[in-house]
Amino acid sequence: MATGCTQSNPNQGKTSEESPQVQEAASTPSAQLAKTKVVTTFLPIYLFTKAVAGNVADVEILVPPGTEVHEYQATPENVRAIATANVLVKNGLGLEEFLEGTVKNAQNSKLAEIDASKGIKPLNEISPVVKTAKEEKGHSHDHAHAQGNPHVWLDPVLAKQQVINIRDGLIAADPANKATYEVNATTYIKELESLDREFQQTLQKNPSCTFITFHDAFPYLAKRYNLKQVAVVEIPEDQLSPTDVQNAINAVKQYKVKALFSEPGVDNKLLTSLSKDLKLNLRTLDSLENGETDSQYYFTAMKANLQTLETTCK
Ligand SMILES: [Zn+2]
Repeated sequence: MATGCTQSNPNQGKTSEESPQVQEAASTPSAQLAKTKVVTTFLPIYLFTKAVAGNVADVEILVPPGTEVHEYQATPENVRAIATANVLVKNGLGLEEFLEGTVKNAQNSKLAEIDASKGIKPLNEISPVVKTAKEEKGHSHDHAHAQGNPHVWLDPVLAKQQVINIRDGLIAADPANKATYEVNATTYIKELESLDREFQQTLQKNPSCTFITFHDAFPYLAKRYNLKQVAVVEIPEDQLSPTDVQNAINAVKQYKVKALFSEPGVDNKLLTSLSKDLKLNLRTLDSLENGETDSQYYFTAMKANLQTLETTCK
């Protein structure tokens, strides 16, 4: 850290005698000028990038929390943000369908792009997927893109891989802050590892616990911890059709289902009455596509998910 300060101040001769205040005052303006501008696509990727970047880079989010990422339409502000950015971080695996055209429009030839899912093997049909009526008709909110299910951030082990990819990408784009990125990433990775252990220890008592979701967001999490997700593919805020309801009923008959999962903030009366009819608890599982922008939110939300799964599966 001290070397960084002295290097950026070649006219500063007496390094060893500098008071901390002098060092700070001397280094602040140049550090601000040089700050790398990083744009991220949506919440989990923002949380991971912010954790790694700390305060040595400016991190922005393109898809504001509260907005649906899967069918997101880019805004002119998004194009401007990318046009002036040094780095763009995306989840990848086909999640950010809006991105290709937006990046093209931004015409930023110096933009470095980080694919957080680089090296992660996508999985399509881990969990049984019950197609919704809409998908059958061709109007599809299709999570199973050619590139596979994109919800890798909900598995703490794959989240760790994403943090590593983000760390390496930031170091490549901004080598001057390598040490900071490394230290910050290491801290966050340790938390992810401890979260993974917590999931393992808690969920190993009830293997093959089966639940129904209306958003195909948890196949990686289910696979990691030996659970079974039966997804009736639908985005939470959409209305369920009679066929979707019938599909859920059939799935309950076919599998030994422990609960129906909705998402936080979703008040779906149809799901409530469906769960009553089926005599199943309706609980919420957070896909983290929306939420708070503090990097620790990942752990808060995932621990709440773990508690829900523990209650459901025992
Ligand atoms: Zn999703």
